[in-house]
Amino acid sequence: MDNMMGQTLTKNVNLMKSSVTKYAVYGVLIAIFAIIVATVTTCYLDTGRISLDGIMEAQKSNMTLWVLDAMPFIFAFWGQYVSSMIAYKAGTMVIDQTKELRQQTAALEHQVMHDATHDALTDLPNRILLKDRLEQALSNAHRHKHVTALIILDLDRFKEINDTLGHYNGDRLLKQVAVRLEGVVRESDTLCRLGGDEFAILLPIISDRKGIQTVIEKIQKALESPFILEGLTLDIQASIGASICPDHGKDVDTILQRADVAMYAAKQDKLGFAVYTTKMDKYSPKRLTLMGELRQAIVNNELVLHFQPKVSVASNKVSGVEALVRWNHPEHGLMMPDEFIPLAERTGLLRQLSRWVLKHTLDQAVSWHENGIELEVAVNISPSTLLDPELPDTITGLLASHKLPCGTLTLEITETSIVRDPELAMEVLIRLADMGIKISIDDFGTGYSSLSYLKKMPASEVKIDKSFVMDMLENESDAVIVKATIDLSHNLGMRVVAEGVENQEIVDRLKELGCDILQGYHYSKPLAVNDFSEWFLSWKAD
Ligand code: C2E
Ligand code: CA
Ligand code: CA
Repeated sequence: MDNMMGQTLTKNVNLMKSSVTKYAVYGVLIAIFAIIVATVTTCYLDTGRISLDGIMEAQKSNMTLWVLDAMPFIFAFWGQYVSSMIAYKAGTMVIDQTKELRQQTAALEHQVMHDATHDALTDLPNRILLKDRLEQALSNAHRHKHVTALIILDLDRFKEINDTLGHYNGDRLLKQVAVRLEGVVRESDTLCRLGGDEFAILLPIISDRKGIQTVIEKIQKALESPFILEGLTLDIQASIGASICPDHGKDVDTILQRADVAMYAAKQDKLGFAVYTTKMDKYSPKRLTLMGELRQAIVNNELVLHFQPKVSVASNKVSGVEALVRWNHPEHGLMMPDEFIPLAERTGLLRQLSRWVLKHTLDQAVSWHENGIELEVAVNISPSTLLDPELPDTITGLLASHKLPCGTLTLEITETSIVRDPELAMEVLIRLADMGIKISIDDFGTGYSSLSYLKKMPASEVKIDKSFVMDMLENESDAVIVKATIDLSHNLGMRVVAEGVENQEIVDRLKELGCDILQGYHYSKPLAVNDFSEWFLSWKAD
Protein backbone atom coordinates (compact mmCIF):
# COMPACT_ATOMS: atom_id res chain seq x y z
CA MET A 1 0.00 0.00 0.00
CA ASP A 2 2.86 2.36 0.91
CA ASN A 3 4.55 1.55 -2.38
CA MET A 4 1.42 2.33 -4.36
CA MET A 5 1.00 5.65 -2.59
CA GLY A 6 4.68 6.48 -3.31
CA GLN A 7 4.20 5.75 -7.00
CA THR A 8 1.08 7.89 -7.21
CA LEU A 9 2.93 10.66 -5.42
CA THR A 10 5.90 10.54 -7.89
CA LYS A 11 3.46 10.53 -10.79
CA ASN A 12 1.62 13.57 -9.45
CA VAL A 13 4.84 15.46 -8.77
CA ASN A 14 6.10 14.73 -12.29
CA LEU A 15 2.78 15.91 -13.71
CA MET A 16 3.09 19.17 -11.82
CA LYS A 17 6.73 19.54 -12.86
CA SER A 18 5.91 19.01 -16.54
CA SER A 19 3.15 21.60 -16.33
CA VAL A 20 5.57 24.20 -14.95
CA THR A 21 8.23 23.20 -17.51
CA LYS A 22 5.69 23.69 -20.30
CA TYR A 23 5.21 27.35 -19.29
CA ALA A 24 9.01 27.80 -19.06
CA VAL A 25 9.33 26.46 -22.63
CA TYR A 26 6.66 28.95 -23.79
CA GLY A 27 8.76 31.65 -22.06
CA VAL A 28 11.90 30.51 -23.90
CA LEU A 29 10.04 30.46 -27.24
CA ILE A 30 8.57 33.93 -26.67
CA ALA A 31 12.06 35.21 -25.70
CA ILE A 32 13.64 33.70 -28.90
CA PHE A 33 10.83 35.23 -30.96
CA ALA A 34 11.46 38.61 -29.27
CA ILE A 35 15.24 38.31 -30.04
CA ILE A 36 14.56 37.55 -33.70
CA VAL A 37 12.09 40.43 -34.07
CA ALA A 38 14.34 42.86 -32.14
CA THR A 39 17.51 41.85 -34.14
CA VAL A 40 15.76 42.02 -37.50
CA THR A 41 14.24 45.40 -36.58
CA THR A 42 17.62 46.75 -35.40
CA CYS A 43 19.29 45.50 -38.62
CA TYR A 44 16.63 47.21 -40.73
CA LEU A 45 16.87 50.49 -38.80
CA ASP A 46 20.74 50.51 -39.00
CA THR A 47 21.21 49.45 -42.64
CA GLY A 48 17.86 50.17 -44.26
CA ARG A 49 17.49 46.52 -45.32
CA ILE A 50 17.43 42.99 -43.90
CA SER A 51 20.58 40.95 -44.52
CA LEU A 52 22.55 38.22 -42.69
CA ASP A 53 25.56 40.53 -42.32
CA GLY A 54 23.32 43.28 -40.91
CA ILE A 55 21.78 40.83 -38.45
CA MET A 56 25.24 39.61 -37.33
CA GLU A 57 26.40 43.23 -36.95
CA ALA A 58 23.29 44.16 -34.91
CA GLN A 59 23.92 41.20 -32.61
CA LYS A 60 27.57 42.15 -32.13
CA SER A 61 27.15 45.90 -31.57
CA ASN A 62 23.74 46.35 -29.83
CA MET A 63 24.02 45.81 -26.07
CA THR A 64 20.24 45.86 -25.56
CA LEU A 65 20.04 42.77 -27.71
CA TRP A 66 22.62 41.06 -25.49
CA VAL A 67 20.29 41.53 -22.53
CA LEU A 68 17.46 40.15 -24.67
CA ASP A 69 19.71 37.22 -25.71
CA ALA A 70 20.04 36.23 -22.06
CA MET A 71 16.24 35.93 -21.66
CA PRO A 72 15.78 32.35 -22.98
CA PHE A 73 18.43 31.12 -20.53
CA ILE A 74 16.82 33.04 -17.69
CA PHE A 75 13.42 31.57 -18.61
CA ALA A 76 14.88 28.08 -18.91
CA PHE A 77 16.63 28.36 -15.56
CA TRP A 78 13.66 30.03 -13.87
CA GLY A 79 11.33 27.34 -15.23
CA GLN A 80 13.52 24.56 -13.93
CA TYR A 81 13.98 26.24 -10.57
CA VAL A 82 10.33 27.09 -9.99
CA SER A 83 9.10 23.70 -11.14
CA SER A 84 11.53 21.95 -8.81
CA MET A 85 10.49 24.18 -5.90
CA ILE A 86 6.78 23.66 -6.53
CA ALA A 87 7.23 19.96 -6.93
CA TYR A 88 9.25 19.81 -3.72
CA LYS A 89 6.72 21.84 -1.72
CA ALA A 90 3.80 19.91 -3.13
CA GLY A 91 5.58 16.69 -2.39
CA THR A 92 6.17 17.52 1.28
CA MET A 93 2.61 18.83 1.61
CA VAL A 94 1.16 15.64 0.21
CA ILE A 95 3.44 13.51 2.38
CA ASP A 96 2.42 15.47 5.51
CA GLN A 97 -1.26 15.20 4.73
CA THR A 98 -1.00 11.52 3.93
CA LYS A 99 0.77 10.90 7.21
CA GLU A 100 -1.89 12.83 9.11
CA LEU A 101 -4.66 11.00 7.31
CA ARG A 102 -3.02 7.69 8.05
CA GLN A 103 -2.74 8.59 11.76
CA GLN A 104 -6.39 9.67 11.85
CA THR A 105 -7.47 6.42 10.23
CA ALA A 106 -5.44 4.40 12.72
CA ALA A 107 -6.91 6.36 15.67
CA LEU A 108 -10.41 5.86 14.28
CA GLU A 109 -9.83 2.15 13.80
CA HIS A 110 -8.53 1.97 17.35
CA GLN A 111 -11.56 3.87 18.70
CA VAL A 112 -14.01 1.62 16.83
CA MET A 113 -12.20 -1.44 18.17
CA HIS A 114 -12.22 0.01 21.69
CA ASP A 115 -15.92 0.88 21.56
CA ALA A 116 -16.80 -2.59 20.38
CA THR A 117 -14.94 -4.23 23.24
CA HIS A 118 -15.58 -1.79 26.10
CA ASP A 119 -18.53 -0.67 28.13
CA ALA A 120 -19.47 2.96 27.43
CA LEU A 121 -20.37 3.84 31.03
CA THR A 122 -17.38 2.51 32.96
CA ASP A 123 -14.92 2.04 30.09
CA LEU A 124 -14.24 -1.44 31.41
CA PRO A 125 -13.91 -4.36 28.98
CA ASN A 126 -17.31 -5.75 27.98
CA ARG A 127 -18.62 -9.27 27.55
CA ILE A 128 -17.06 -9.62 24.08
CA LEU A 129 -13.56 -8.83 25.33
CA LEU A 130 -14.06 -10.98 28.42
CA LYS A 131 -14.98 -13.96 26.25
CA ASP A 132 -11.90 -13.36 24.14
CA ARG A 133 -9.57 -13.16 27.15
CA LEU A 134 -11.31 -16.11 28.80
CA GLU A 135 -10.73 -18.14 25.66
CA GLN A 136 -7.01 -17.29 25.74
CA ALA A 137 -6.77 -17.94 29.48
CA LEU A 138 -8.48 -21.33 29.13
CA SER A 139 -6.22 -22.46 26.32
CA ASN A 140 -3.14 -21.34 28.29
CA ALA A 141 -4.47 -23.07 31.37
CA HIS A 142 -4.94 -26.26 29.39
CA ARG A 143 -1.43 -26.04 27.89
CA HIS A 144 0.43 -25.18 31.10
CA LYS A 145 -1.88 -27.00 33.55
CA HIS A 146 -2.91 -23.78 35.32
CA VAL A 147 -6.05 -23.20 37.29
CA THR A 148 -8.22 -20.33 35.99
CA ALA A 149 -11.18 -18.78 37.76
CA LEU A 150 -14.06 -16.57 36.77
CA ILE A 151 -15.94 -14.47 39.30
CA ILE A 152 -19.31 -12.89 38.54
CA LEU A 153 -20.75 -10.31 40.85
CA ASP A 154 -24.18 -8.71 40.89
CA LEU A 155 -25.16 -5.84 43.16
CA ASP A 156 -28.03 -6.51 45.54
CA ARG A 157 -31.07 -4.25 45.40
CA PHE A 158 -29.56 -2.14 42.62
CA LYS A 159 -32.90 -1.88 40.87
CA GLU A 160 -34.37 -0.34 43.96
CA ILE A 161 -31.62 2.29 44.07
CA ASN A 162 -32.08 2.99 40.38
CA ASP A 163 -35.83 3.35 40.84
CA THR A 164 -35.49 5.46 43.93
CA LEU A 165 -32.63 7.77 43.06
CA GLY A 166 -32.97 7.73 39.28
CA HIS A 167 -30.87 6.31 36.46
CA TYR A 168 -28.36 9.14 36.60
CA ASN A 169 -27.47 8.23 40.17
CA GLY A 170 -27.64 4.53 39.36
CA ASP A 171 -25.00 5.14 36.70
CA ARG A 172 -22.88 7.14 39.12
CA LEU A 173 -23.02 4.30 41.59
CA LEU A 174 -21.96 1.78 38.94
CA LYS A 175 -18.98 3.96 38.05
CA GLN A 176 -17.96 4.19 41.69
CA VAL A 177 -18.28 0.42 42.06
CA ALA A 178 -16.13 -0.04 38.94
CA VAL A 179 -13.41 2.18 40.37
CA ARG A 180 -13.37 0.27 43.66
CA LEU A 181 -13.22 -3.07 41.88
CA GLU A 182 -10.37 -1.85 39.71
CA GLY A 183 -8.42 -1.45 42.93
CA VAL A 184 -8.93 -5.13 43.72
CA VAL A 185 -7.72 -6.73 40.50
CA ARG A 186 -4.13 -7.36 39.47
CA GLU A 187 -2.75 -6.20 36.14
CA SER A 188 -3.04 -9.68 34.68
CA ASP A 189 -6.70 -10.02 35.70
CA THR A 190 -9.57 -8.70 33.60
CA LEU A 191 -12.35 -6.74 35.28
CA CYS A 192 -15.33 -6.25 33.02
CA ARG A 193 -18.91 -5.04 33.14
CA LEU A 194 -21.26 -7.64 31.73
CA GLY A 195 -24.19 -5.24 31.68
CA GLY A 196 -26.58 -3.70 34.19
CA ASP A 197 -25.20 -4.15 37.68
CA GLU A 198 -23.25 -7.28 36.76
CA PHE A 199 -19.45 -7.35 36.75
CA ALA A 200 -16.97 -10.16 36.10
CA ILE A 201 -13.38 -10.72 37.08
CA LEU A 202 -11.21 -13.17 35.19
CA LEU A 203 -8.27 -14.57 37.14
CA PRO A 204 -6.22 -16.25 34.38
CA ILE A 205 -3.85 -17.98 36.81
CA ILE A 206 -4.51 -18.79 40.44
CA SER A 207 -1.99 -20.61 42.55
CA ASP A 208 -4.61 -22.67 44.40
CA ARG A 209 -8.35 -22.75 44.82
CA LYS A 210 -8.18 -20.83 48.09
CA GLY A 211 -6.87 -17.89 46.06
CA ILE A 212 -10.43 -17.21 44.90
CA GLN A 213 -11.55 -16.82 48.47
CA THR A 214 -8.90 -14.14 48.99
CA VAL A 215 -10.05 -12.20 45.92
CA ILE A 216 -13.70 -12.47 46.98
CA GLU A 217 -12.83 -11.19 50.45
CA LYS A 218 -11.02 -8.28 48.83
CA ILE A 219 -14.08 -7.50 46.69
CA GLN A 220 -16.34 -7.57 49.73
CA LYS A 221 -13.94 -5.35 51.62
CA ALA A 222 -13.81 -2.90 48.71
CA LEU A 223 -17.59 -2.55 48.76
CA GLU A 224 -17.80 -2.44 52.55
CA SER A 225 -17.52 1.29 53.16
CA PRO A 226 -20.73 3.06 52.18
CA PHE A 227 -21.23 4.90 48.89
CA ILE A 228 -22.35 8.50 49.00
CA LEU A 229 -24.94 9.61 46.46
CA GLU A 230 -27.07 12.74 46.64
CA GLY A 231 -25.94 13.16 50.21
CA LEU A 232 -27.31 9.70 51.06
CA THR A 233 -25.13 7.00 52.55
CA LEU A 234 -25.77 3.71 50.76
CA ASP A 235 -24.62 0.31 51.92
CA ILE A 236 -24.06 -1.79 48.86
CA GLN A 237 -23.73 -5.53 48.95
CA ALA A 238 -23.06 -7.87 46.09
CA SER A 239 -23.81 -11.51 45.41
CA ILE A 240 -20.71 -13.20 44.10
CA GLY A 241 -20.35 -16.49 42.24
CA ALA A 242 -17.24 -18.24 40.97
CA SER A 243 -16.40 -21.12 38.67
CA ILE A 244 -13.04 -22.77 38.11
CA CYS A 245 -11.36 -24.32 35.10
CA PRO A 246 -10.72 -27.29 34.92
CA ASP A 247 -12.99 -28.28 37.88
CA HIS A 248 -16.25 -26.92 36.47
CA GLY A 249 -15.64 -26.81 32.76
CA LYS A 250 -13.06 -26.20 30.11
CA ASP A 251 -14.84 -24.00 27.59
CA VAL A 252 -15.86 -20.37 27.70
CA ASP A 253 -19.62 -20.85 27.72
CA THR A 254 -19.62 -23.47 30.47
CA ILE A 255 -17.31 -21.44 32.73
CA LEU A 256 -19.40 -18.30 32.20
CA GLN A 257 -22.69 -20.07 32.75
CA ARG A 258 -21.50 -21.84 35.90
CA ALA A 259 -20.12 -18.68 37.48
CA ASP A 260 -23.53 -17.13 36.74
CA VAL A 261 -25.33 -20.06 38.33
CA ALA A 262 -23.13 -19.76 41.44
CA MET A 263 -23.82 -16.03 41.63
CA TYR A 264 -27.55 -16.62 41.33
CA ALA A 265 -27.39 -19.31 44.04
CA ALA A 266 -25.50 -16.89 46.30
CA LYS A 267 -28.21 -14.30 45.71
CA GLN A 268 -31.10 -16.67 46.29
CA ASP A 269 -29.70 -18.12 49.47
CA LYS A 270 -28.30 -14.77 50.63
CA LEU A 271 -24.86 -16.34 51.00
CA GLY A 272 -22.79 -13.35 49.87
CA PHE A 273 -20.72 -15.63 47.67
CA ALA A 274 -20.68 -19.18 46.36
CA VAL A 275 -18.38 -21.33 44.27
CA TYR A 276 -20.22 -23.47 41.73
CA THR A 277 -21.36 -26.98 42.63
CA THR A 278 -23.55 -29.27 40.51
CA LYS A 279 -26.28 -28.97 43.13
CA MET A 280 -26.78 -25.38 42.05
CA ASP A 281 -27.89 -26.34 38.57
CA LYS A 282 -31.47 -26.13 39.64
CA TYR A 283 -31.04 -22.35 39.63
CA SER A 284 -29.98 -21.86 36.06
CA PRO A 285 -32.07 -23.08 33.17
CA LYS A 286 -35.01 -22.65 35.51
CA ARG A 287 -34.55 -18.93 35.57
CA LEU A 288 -34.93 -18.59 31.82
CA THR A 289 -37.89 -20.88 31.32
CA LEU A 290 -39.65 -19.50 34.38
CA MET A 291 -40.14 -16.15 32.69
CA GLY A 292 -42.25 -17.80 30.03
CA GLU A 293 -44.08 -20.04 32.47
CA LEU A 294 -45.19 -17.37 34.92
CA ARG A 295 -47.83 -15.86 32.63
CA GLN A 296 -49.39 -19.27 32.15
CA ALA A 297 -49.09 -20.04 35.86
CA ILE A 298 -51.31 -17.08 36.73
CA VAL A 299 -53.98 -18.22 34.27
CA ASN A 300 -53.67 -21.88 35.36
CA ASN A 301 -54.02 -20.98 39.03
CA GLU A 302 -50.64 -22.41 39.92
CA LEU A 303 -50.20 -19.57 42.39
CA VAL A 304 -51.26 -20.17 45.99
CA LEU A 305 -51.69 -17.86 48.92
CA HIS A 306 -50.33 -18.54 52.35
CA PHE A 307 -51.54 -16.54 55.30
CA GLN A 308 -49.54 -15.41 58.30
CA PRO A 309 -51.40 -14.20 61.39
CA LYS A 310 -50.97 -10.79 62.98
CA VAL A 311 -51.66 -10.92 66.70
CA SER A 312 -52.92 -7.95 68.69
CA VAL A 313 -50.82 -7.26 71.79
CA ALA A 314 -53.72 -5.80 73.76
CA SER A 315 -56.21 -8.65 73.25
CA ASN A 316 -53.85 -11.51 72.25
CA LYS A 317 -56.37 -12.15 69.44
CA VAL A 318 -55.60 -12.65 65.78
CA SER A 319 -56.47 -9.28 64.32
CA GLY A 320 -55.65 -10.09 60.74
CA VAL A 321 -53.52 -11.97 58.27
CA GLU A 322 -50.93 -11.09 55.67
CA ALA A 323 -51.39 -12.85 52.35
CA LEU A 324 -48.08 -14.08 50.92
CA VAL A 325 -47.99 -15.56 47.48
CA ARG A 326 -46.22 -18.78 46.46
CA TRP A 327 -45.97 -20.57 43.14
CA ASN A 328 -46.82 -24.22 43.15
CA HIS A 329 -44.64 -25.12 40.21
CA PRO A 330 -45.36 -28.52 38.60
CA GLU A 331 -41.63 -29.35 38.46
CA HIS A 332 -39.85 -27.21 41.02
CA GLY A 333 -42.37 -27.52 43.82
CA LEU A 334 -43.38 -24.64 46.06
CA MET A 335 -41.46 -21.54 45.07
CA MET A 336 -41.08 -18.53 47.34
CA PRO A 337 -41.95 -15.00 46.20
CA ASP A 338 -38.31 -13.87 46.17
CA GLU A 339 -37.75 -16.36 43.36
CA PHE A 340 -40.42 -14.99 41.02
CA ILE A 341 -41.63 -11.55 42.12
CA PRO A 342 -38.50 -9.84 40.72
CA LEU A 343 -39.08 -11.89 37.56
CA ALA A 344 -42.68 -10.76 37.37
CA GLU A 345 -41.54 -7.19 37.79
CA ARG A 346 -39.09 -7.52 34.93
CA THR A 347 -41.53 -9.21 32.58
CA GLY A 348 -44.31 -6.75 33.33
CA LEU A 349 -46.48 -9.46 34.86
CA LEU A 350 -46.68 -7.94 38.29
CA ARG A 351 -49.90 -6.09 37.61
CA GLN A 352 -51.59 -9.34 36.66
CA LEU A 353 -50.05 -11.12 39.62
CA SER A 354 -51.17 -8.38 42.02
CA ARG A 355 -54.73 -8.61 40.68
CA TRP A 356 -54.68 -12.35 41.17
CA VAL A 357 -53.46 -11.95 44.75
CA LEU A 358 -56.02 -9.24 45.54
CA LYS A 359 -58.91 -11.23 44.12
CA HIS A 360 -57.98 -14.48 45.86
CA THR A 361 -57.26 -12.77 49.18
CA LEU A 362 -60.69 -11.15 49.09
CA ASP A 363 -62.27 -14.51 48.08
CA GLN A 364 -60.67 -15.99 51.18
CA ALA A 365 -61.79 -13.10 53.39
CA VAL A 366 -65.39 -13.64 52.22
CA SER A 367 -65.12 -17.35 52.95
CA TRP A 368 -63.83 -16.65 56.49
CA HIS A 369 -66.53 -14.02 57.07
CA GLU A 370 -69.15 -16.57 56.03
CA ASN A 371 -67.73 -18.89 58.69
CA GLY A 372 -67.88 -16.20 61.33
CA ILE A 373 -64.19 -15.39 61.26
CA GLU A 374 -63.74 -11.64 60.98
CA LEU A 375 -60.19 -11.08 59.84
CA GLU A 376 -58.53 -8.08 58.28
CA VAL A 377 -56.50 -9.09 55.26
CA ALA A 378 -53.27 -7.46 54.16
CA VAL A 379 -51.84 -7.68 50.67
CA ASN A 380 -48.35 -6.65 49.53
CA ILE A 381 -48.39 -4.04 46.78
CA SER A 382 -45.18 -3.60 44.83
CA PRO A 383 -44.06 -0.13 43.68
CA SER A 384 -45.08 -0.66 40.06
CA THR A 385 -48.52 -1.85 41.11
CA LEU A 386 -49.05 1.12 43.39
CA LEU A 387 -48.13 3.52 40.61
CA ASP A 388 -50.68 1.91 38.31
CA PRO A 389 -53.36 4.64 38.03
CA GLU A 390 -56.06 1.98 37.59
CA LEU A 391 -55.34 0.42 40.99
CA PRO A 392 -57.94 2.36 43.03
CA ASP A 393 -60.71 1.49 40.55
CA THR A 394 -59.64 -2.15 40.39
CA ILE A 395 -59.77 -2.37 44.16
CA THR A 396 -63.11 -0.56 44.39
CA GLY A 397 -64.55 -3.01 41.89
CA LEU A 398 -63.16 -6.04 43.70
CA LEU A 399 -64.37 -4.88 47.13
CA ALA A 400 -67.83 -4.16 45.72
CA SER A 401 -68.12 -7.54 44.01
CA HIS A 402 -67.03 -9.27 47.23
CA LYS A 403 -69.42 -7.15 49.32
CA LEU A 404 -66.68 -6.46 51.84
CA PRO A 405 -66.29 -3.24 53.81
CA CYS A 406 -63.22 -1.27 52.66
CA GLY A 407 -61.73 -1.41 56.16
CA THR A 408 -61.18 -5.16 55.72
CA LEU A 409 -58.31 -4.55 53.34
CA THR A 410 -54.84 -3.31 54.21
CA LEU A 411 -52.31 -2.58 51.48
CA GLU A 412 -48.70 -3.08 52.51
CA ILE A 413 -46.53 -0.73 50.52
CA THR A 414 -42.82 -0.05 50.84
CA GLU A 415 -41.11 3.31 51.12
CA THR A 416 -39.60 2.68 47.69
CA SER A 417 -43.02 3.06 46.09
CA ILE A 418 -43.34 6.55 47.47
CA VAL A 419 -39.85 7.78 46.77
CA ARG A 420 -39.99 6.60 43.16
CA ASP A 421 -42.74 9.06 42.22
CA PRO A 422 -43.90 10.85 45.37
CA GLU A 423 -46.63 12.92 43.71
CA LEU A 424 -48.33 10.08 41.88
CA ALA A 425 -47.91 7.71 44.84
CA MET A 426 -49.44 10.23 47.20
CA GLU A 427 -52.35 10.84 44.83
CA VAL A 428 -53.12 7.12 44.57
CA LEU A 429 -52.68 6.59 48.31
CA ILE A 430 -54.99 9.47 49.20
CA ARG A 431 -57.67 8.09 46.90
CA LEU A 432 -57.31 4.64 48.49
CA ALA A 433 -57.26 5.98 52.05
CA ASP A 434 -60.34 8.15 51.36
CA MET A 435 -62.16 4.98 50.36
CA GLY A 436 -61.40 3.61 53.84
CA ILE A 437 -58.68 1.17 52.77
CA LYS A 438 -55.85 0.91 55.29
CA ILE A 439 -52.35 1.72 54.17
CA SER A 440 -49.42 0.08 55.91
CA ILE A 441 -45.78 1.04 55.41
CA ASP A 442 -43.91 -2.24 55.06
CA ASP A 443 -40.24 -2.96 55.77
CA PHE A 444 -40.03 0.35 57.57
CA GLY A 445 -36.45 1.45 58.20
CA THR A 446 -34.86 -0.27 55.22
CA GLY A 447 -35.75 2.29 52.56
CA TYR A 448 -34.10 5.54 51.77
CA SER A 449 -36.91 7.86 52.66
CA SER A 450 -36.80 10.04 55.72
CA LEU A 451 -39.14 10.00 58.67
CA SER A 452 -40.61 13.24 57.33
CA TYR A 453 -42.35 11.21 54.62
CA LEU A 454 -44.23 9.40 57.29
CA LYS A 455 -45.93 12.59 58.41
CA LYS A 456 -47.42 13.30 55.01
CA MET A 457 -48.58 9.76 54.31
CA PRO A 458 -52.22 8.82 54.62
CA ALA A 459 -51.04 5.61 56.32
CA SER A 460 -52.61 4.00 59.33
CA GLU A 461 -49.94 1.40 60.07
CA VAL A 462 -46.18 1.04 60.14
CA LYS A 463 -44.48 -2.37 59.94
CA ILE A 464 -41.01 -2.37 61.44
CA ASP A 465 -38.77 -4.45 59.25
CA LYS A 466 -37.91 -7.89 60.59
CA SER A 467 -34.18 -7.22 60.35
CA PHE A 468 -34.48 -4.74 63.26
CA VAL A 469 -36.92 -6.84 65.26
CA MET A 470 -34.98 -10.09 65.02
CA ASP A 471 -31.77 -8.51 66.32
CA MET A 472 -33.20 -6.01 68.78
CA LEU A 473 -32.16 -7.97 71.87
CA GLU A 474 -28.52 -8.25 70.86
CA ASN A 475 -28.11 -5.07 68.86
CA GLU A 476 -28.59 -1.85 70.78
CA SER A 477 -28.95 0.36 67.68
CA ASP A 478 -31.70 -1.92 66.33
CA ALA A 479 -33.49 -1.61 69.68
CA VAL A 480 -33.23 2.17 69.46
CA ILE A 481 -34.70 2.16 65.94
CA VAL A 482 -37.59 -0.05 67.06
CA LYS A 483 -38.37 2.20 70.02
CA ALA A 484 -38.08 5.41 67.99
CA THR A 485 -40.33 4.03 65.25
CA ILE A 486 -42.99 2.99 67.76
CA ASP A 487 -42.95 6.37 69.52
CA LEU A 488 -42.99 8.38 66.32
CA SER A 489 -45.75 6.32 64.70
CA HIS A 490 -47.90 6.63 67.79
CA ASN A 491 -47.37 10.38 67.80
CA LEU A 492 -48.62 10.43 64.22
CA GLY A 493 -51.65 8.36 65.18
CA MET A 494 -50.55 5.15 63.47
CA ARG A 495 -50.50 1.64 64.84
CA VAL A 496 -47.27 -0.33 64.80
CA VAL A 497 -46.75 -3.90 63.64
CA ALA A 498 -43.49 -5.71 64.37
CA GLU A 499 -42.68 -8.47 61.88
CA GLY A 500 -40.10 -11.21 62.36
CA VAL A 501 -41.09 -11.92 65.97
CA GLU A 502 -39.39 -15.24 66.62
CA ASN A 503 -39.41 -15.74 70.39
CA GLN A 504 -41.06 -14.87 73.66
CA GLU A 505 -38.30 -12.50 74.82
CA ILE A 506 -38.87 -10.33 71.78
CA VAL A 507 -42.63 -10.44 72.42
CA ASP A 508 -42.04 -9.21 75.99
CA ARG A 509 -39.69 -6.46 74.89
CA LEU A 510 -42.07 -5.25 72.15
CA LYS A 511 -44.94 -5.24 74.63
CA GLU A 512 -42.90 -3.03 76.96
CA LEU A 513 -42.20 -0.66 74.10
CA GLY A 514 -45.91 -0.37 73.34
CA CYS A 515 -45.99 -2.17 69.97
CA ASP A 516 -49.59 -2.85 68.86
CA ILE A 517 -49.45 -5.92 66.66
CA LEU A 518 -46.96 -8.79 66.38
CA GLN A 519 -46.26 -11.10 63.47
CA GLY A 520 -43.63 -13.80 63.10
CA TYR A 521 -42.61 -17.43 63.38
CA HIS A 522 -43.15 -17.29 67.13
CA TYR A 523 -46.86 -17.32 66.37
CA SER A 524 -46.88 -19.05 63.03
CA LYS A 525 -45.15 -19.28 59.70
CA PRO A 526 -47.29 -18.32 56.70
CA LEU A 527 -49.73 -21.24 56.25
CA ALA A 528 -51.87 -22.65 53.45
CA VAL A 529 -55.62 -22.02 53.92
CA ASN A 530 -56.45 -25.37 55.54
CA ASP A 531 -53.44 -25.30 57.86
CA PHE A 532 -54.29 -21.73 58.77
CA SER A 533 -57.86 -22.66 59.72
CA GLU A 534 -56.52 -25.43 61.95
CA TRP A 535 -53.96 -23.10 63.54
CA PHE A 536 -56.61 -20.40 64.01
CA LEU A 537 -58.99 -22.76 65.80
CA SER A 538 -56.27 -23.98 68.15
CA TRP A 539 -55.22 -20.39 68.83
CA LYS A 540 -58.77 -19.42 69.75
CA ALA A 541 -58.93 -22.42 72.01
CA ASP A 542 -55.88 -21.13 73.97
P1 C2E B 1 -42.58 -9.13 53.43
O1 C2E B 1 -43.79 -8.38 53.00
O2 C2E B 1 -41.64 -8.43 54.32
O3 C2E B 1 -43.13 -10.45 54.08
C1 C2E B 1 -42.63 -11.01 55.22
C2 C2E B 1 -41.69 -12.11 54.92
O4 C2E B 1 -41.03 -12.47 56.12
C3 C2E B 1 -42.39 -13.38 54.44
O5 C2E B 1 -41.50 -14.04 53.54
C4 C2E B 1 -42.49 -14.19 55.72
O6 C2E B 1 -42.54 -15.57 55.50
C5 C2E B 1 -41.23 -13.81 56.42
N1 C2E B 1 -41.36 -13.93 57.85
C6 C2E B 1 -42.47 -13.78 58.60
N2 C2E B 1 -42.21 -13.97 59.91
C7 C2E B 1 -40.89 -14.23 59.98
C8 C2E B 1 -40.02 -14.52 61.10
O7 C2E B 1 -40.41 -14.56 62.25
N3 C2E B 1 -38.73 -14.75 60.81
C9 C2E B 1 -38.26 -14.71 59.53
N4 C2E B 1 -36.96 -14.95 59.31
N5 C2E B 1 -39.05 -14.43 58.47
C10 C2E B 1 -40.35 -14.20 58.71
P2 C2E B 1 -42.02 -14.49 52.13
O8 C2E B 1 -43.38 -15.06 52.21
O9 C2E B 1 -40.94 -15.30 51.55
O10 C2E B 1 -42.14 -13.12 51.36
C11 C2E B 1 -41.04 -12.41 51.01
C12 C2E B 1 -41.41 -11.12 50.35
O11 C2E B 1 -42.05 -11.32 49.10
C13 C2E B 1 -42.42 -10.33 51.14
O12 C2E B 1 -41.76 -9.65 52.15
C14 C2E B 1 -43.01 -9.43 50.10
O13 C2E B 1 -42.19 -8.30 49.91
C15 C2E B 1 -42.95 -10.27 48.86
N6 C2E B 1 -44.29 -10.79 48.58
C16 C2E B 1 -44.89 -11.87 49.11
N7 C2E B 1 -46.13 -12.02 48.59
C17 C2E B 1 -46.32 -11.00 47.73
C18 C2E B 1 -47.39 -10.59 46.87
O14 C2E B 1 -48.47 -11.19 46.82
N8 C2E B 1 -47.20 -9.48 46.11
C19 C2E B 1 -46.04 -8.78 46.14
N9 C2E B 1 -45.94 -7.71 45.39
N10 C2E B 1 -45.02 -9.13 46.94
C20 C2E B 1 -45.15 -10.23 47.71
CA1 CA C 1 -45.40 -7.42 53.84
CA1 CA D 1 -41.95 -6.75 55.59
